[in-house]
Amino acid sequence: MNLLDNINGEISHILNKAIDGHPPSVDEAELLFGCTGQEFLALILIADHVRERTVGDVVTYVINRNINFTNVCVNRCRFCAFREDKESPNQFLLSAKEIEDKTLEAVKLKATEVCIQGGLHPEADLDLYLRIIKTVRKVSPDIHIHAFSPMEIYHAARREELSIHEVLKILKEAGLDSMPGTAAEILVDKVRAIICPEKISVREWSEVIEEAHKLNIPTSSTMMYGHVDSNRDKAVHMDILRNIQKKTRGFTEFVPLSFIHQYTELYKNLSARPGATGMEDVKVYAISRLMFDGLINNIQVSWVKLGTKFAQFCLNVGANDFGGTLFEENISKIAGSPSEEYLSPESMIALIRESGRIPVQRTTIYELLG
Ligand code: SF4
Repeated sequence: MNLLDNINGEISHILNKAIDGHPPSVDEAELLFGCTGQEFLALILIADHVRERTVGDVVTYVINRNINFTNVCVNRCRFCAFREDKESPNQFLLSAKEIEDKTLEAVKLKATEVCIQGGLHPEADLDLYLRIIKTVRKVSPDIHIHAFSPMEIYHAARREELSIHEVLKILKEAGLDSMPGTAAEILVDKVRAIICPEKISVREWSEVIEEAHKLNIPTSSTMMYGHVDSNRDKAVHMDILRNIQKKTRGFTEFVPLSFIHQYTELYKNLSARPGATGMEDVKVYAISRLMFDGLINNIQVSWVKLGTKFAQFCLNVGANDFGGTLFEENISKIAGSPSEEYLSPESMIALIRESGRIPVQRTTIYELLG
């Protein structure tokens, strides 16, 4: 008996197509987000099958260190509990010496990557971003610099009255290796108007990302969900990402970021949901695996958002990457995430092995190490 024979005909049709390498359309993905019961279980099974067909049983991880260089930000995104005003007693802007020390620590931990992001400091100009890169490079000529969100790039370009292309080219020449595809949140302008009205628009975000890819600066891709987003919004978001990928092939991975709600204005005053439910998290992993089939091979579990136990479970619903050790993860912690700030490579390896998969360390751009 075929498992898919006994479920809703429309869902069965979508999943059968996905088995044969035909990803769901936006309408079909929206329908999958509504699945429960047998249909939900079938979705998981097929997503795991597509994962195995695409990337096999290896689960990758990266040894990296976060450096959040400032929490001062001119924007007021309503999901962000990290930002501070310049006058706040809790504000910080790391000195060159502090960045140097954190990079040294990363080198000692055998990290292959530093992930550098910050708020939009009113005095942050291109020179600050260049000084950060140079400080890291002084300590380590070869550590991978994964830095600056599309919002930061846009902020720098606006301040300097330069084009996005010029800013990215200058940063790349200084040593920028790749960029986080953050600030994407949900790529639907009406959602952005509620959750982050001052942030770049969908068009501007896509422009920075495509420009980076053209300059051979690969980026990750992300989606922050579980607040005011609908199933349709998530499906549209994934469709925008895959359309960019068809053109550029510059995304290294997709990282779903489950909304951490506790201390955010979006939850407290704006009636956002208290984060995604477990089933919604699972569906995001499973549906993204089907949506990105043949385009984005790596789907990352964010253990900081999900917790390590649930992250381990999500390896069975379409994901194939455990993310980074992320020593010093500030942003989720401040928003109320109960997860630890650091997960040792040994703990990651044990979690991956226990789920019957093969742990392999990788670089930021998914070269396997060993
Ligand atoms: S998410 Fe980023 S841009 Fe938005 S307020 Fe927080 S630090 Fe600023």
